[in-house]
Amino acid sequence: MNFVVLSLFPAMIRECMNTSITGRAISNGHINLDVIDIRDFSRDKHLHVDDYPYGGGAGMVMMADPVYRACEHARSLCSDGKGRIIYMSPSGRRFDRNIAKELSQYNDLIFLCGHYEGIDERVIELEADDAISIGDFVLTGGELPAVCIMDAVSRLVPGVLSNDMSAVEESFEDNLLEYPQYTRPEVFMGKKVPEILLSGHHANISTWRRQQSLERTAKLRPDLLEKADLNIRDKEYLRNLKNI
Ligand code: SAM
Repeated sequence: MNFVVLSLFPAMIRECMNTSITGRAISNGHINLDVIDIRDFSRDKHLHVDDYPYGGGAGMVMMADPVYRACEHARSLCSDGKGRIIYMSPSGRRFDRNIAKELSQYNDLIFLCGHYEGIDERVIELEADDAISIGDFVLTGGELPAVCIMDAVSRLVPGVLSNDMSAVEESFEDNLLEYPQYTRPEVFMGKKVPEILLSGHHANISTWRRQQSLERTAKLRPDLLEKADLNIRDKEYLRNLKNI
């Protein structure tokens, strides 16, 4: 998977992505990361990349020319010479696990990070293939959204997670939240690890985890259950829960 990020603050991207699991994925070549400083594409001797908005109003807007030229350079780094430019935007489609899966199918993803009041709309029209939001709130820039998305997509790239860290049983897989996890010690502040997890009985543990998943989803995210792939036993378990 090849990630290219266009940003005015490349250090934010590098700091986050070169850490922990994504950092290891970059070191061992499962992920390639190019971070492009949009400022390098300014033609201005003072390296200006923003200007006042036409029509007035607060803040500055990132200028079309440097962003356009940075986008064209980013495309040239992609295996097909084009890639897919995703504009990080509060107006984009809302990011979730399904979009992460969709994005993980591409070889090259280019993340265009806005800052200030955003980017001159004409470049978005000319260059953006997609626009994604990470939620209904406004951040100062697209760097953190790009990192969130790259992190979530990386976990789905074969080889990034070791076998014992599989993404298969994680929250939102099958539209269920994950069951609770425990590690040593067996007792902490008087709270004991559920007995079943110490039993060594794999089938019973698996049933218990499924039930915990169902219960947690019913309690915390009942909206997900409507889309979940439930078998007869799951449905019966949920019916019994309601009757308690
Ligand atoms: N004026 C813009 C608006 O009201 O939609 C917000 C601009 S925001 C301060 C600057 C940049 O941060 C945006 O261009 C975008 O790249 C990024 N950004 C902010 N919030 C975001 C979100 N929820 N999801 C994705 N990107 C976001």
